[in-house]
Amino acid sequence: MQLYTKILIGMFIGVVLGLLIGPNSSILPQDSVRLSSGVTVYEAQNGTVTNNFKGIKTAKIIKEDGDWIEIGFQLSAADQLRLKSGGVTLSDKSGNPIEPGTTVEAWVKDEQPDVRRYAGIGQILVDNTEWLGQLFLAMIKMVVVPLVFFSLVVGIASLGDVRKLGRMGGRTLGFFMMTTVVALSIGVGLANLIKPGKMLSDKDRDNLLASYSDGASSSVANAAEAPSFLDQIVSIVPSNPIGALAGGDMLQVIFFAMMLGIALTFLKDDRADLVVDVFDRLNDAMVMLVHIAMKLAPIGVGALLFKVVGNTGLSVLTALGVYALVVLAGLLSHMFFTYGLAVKFGTNLSFLPFLGAIKEALVMAFSTSSSSATLPVTKGCCEDNLNVSAETTSFVLPLGATVNMDGTALYQGVAAIFIAQIYGMDLSMGDQVTIVVSATLASVGAASVPGAGMITLAMVLTAIGVPTEGLALILGVDRILDMFRTATNVVGDSTATVLMAHLEGESLKVMSDAEDASDPTKGFEGRLDHGQQSVQAENDPQ
Ligand code: ASP
Repeated sequence: MQLYTKILIGMFIGVVLGLLIGPNSSILPQDSVRLSSGVTVYEAQNGTVTNNFKGIKTAKIIKEDGDWIEIGFQLSAADQLRLKSGGVTLSDKSGNPIEPGTTVEAWVKDEQPDVRRYAGIGQILVDNTEWLGQLFLAMIKMVVVPLVFFSLVVGIASLGDVRKLGRMGGRTLGFFMMTTVVALSIGVGLANLIKPGKMLSDKDRDNLLASYSDGASSSVANAAEAPSFLDQIVSIVPSNPIGALAGGDMLQVIFFAMMLGIALTFLKDDRADLVVDVFDRLNDAMVMLVHIAMKLAPIGVGALLFKVVGNTGLSVLTALGVYALVVLAGLLSHMFFTYGLAVKFGTNLSFLPFLGAIKEALVMAFSTSSSSATLPVTKGCCEDNLNVSAETTSFVLPLGATVNMDGTALYQGVAAIFIAQIYGMDLSMGDQVTIVVSATLASVGAASVPGAGMITLAMVLTAIGVPTEGLALILGVDRILDMFRTATNVVGDSTATVLMAHLEGESLKVMSDAEDASDPTKGFEGRLDHGQQSVQAENDPQ
């Protein structure tokens, strides 16, 4: 069975189990509650508040009585300190002090959406399987920085002519910019046409705002710390390259690797050869590491989806369905229209086989919601399945994963208009242009990690004067939309890669599944088992 098929099976199992036995399961008993911050916890059902356990987030349901729910929770030492520092004296019913670890019984009013039920067993299952997904992600992320660094230095050092780099750089950035503006126009156009924000009733809106306000305020707090675009440009030059590598600052790593690669091409005679050779072999080893990590993909991906689907459930999707559908429709149009045309007219490939060739990268993007975590896989797909040279992938892909996020930009356009519509604000033409400009910058500034687009969306909202609290409205579906926009981002980066390769005169070719399975030096099938041969074959093409 092909690796890709195994990953799909893993995804499917994750989704089904998430729906069936996740915290939002409809078949497991909903025996616990999550409390929004600020919910009053009463000592007794009659409404006495002796100890106000504000800040308790989860509790078991002991019994339900009309509008009231009796809950039980363990008071941790941290809870106790926090409550004490807030001047709350903790004593049980007989007046004795409550020690940490004691199970406390209390009451809350059964008020949606501040008190939300979930299945305790489902949560335990998620908590105990989460590590499988995290382990897989960590294995892939481990390779990202060294892979980008080694491959970019080698790629640029072997370009020979540095002018080629300038040409490719200019074209790549131009293409990124153009497609981002097209993506935003699609998003803004659709949101204006369908007006998803006008479809939410007042009650639904209040519910949504109340149930997600905690998460939104932390997004707003994070956004406040995001540096401005100009600051970001200046900070591309690392004052400490080792620090940039250690901290995984992608733009700084790219800049340093490019400069090092260029410097190597200026060295006389064969003085650069040894360094390039060593980096080249290290690069091969990194590629092999990706293949080792991908062995874990079916299980890792399953665990990641189990958590997302289990925690989100499909219920939120119904409330925000229209908004989510507009984003999805926009992403799909952009993918098939913009990228479809670019691939069809800009290269000798057809679009669907092209998508088929990067399918491993698509499922990775979808399940990790991180284009940088997907980068090693995208690179493998473009080189092995589409025959793009390593020089091109090493330049275009890391740059794309860092600055080119069309899916994110499109989503930000729709989200900004949706939130403005909910607040009943009319946006002028000028506002719409501001959205396009600020979302272009916000998508460049977004890190390629899960949820990053949501954080920089605050920038866009501020630019058009929409309250950032509105982020609360869309938080519930954000995780799911993130999967789709990340997949779009990865298709965008891959499209740019094949386009640049074609412009550089490389001969592109889609590798079929059969070829993949039969050629162990390429693709995702059989590389590990034939690792040694593959290295020998590359060193000795005859
Ligand atoms: N998760 C996205 C990515 O990695 C960024 C975002 O839109 O949040 O490409």
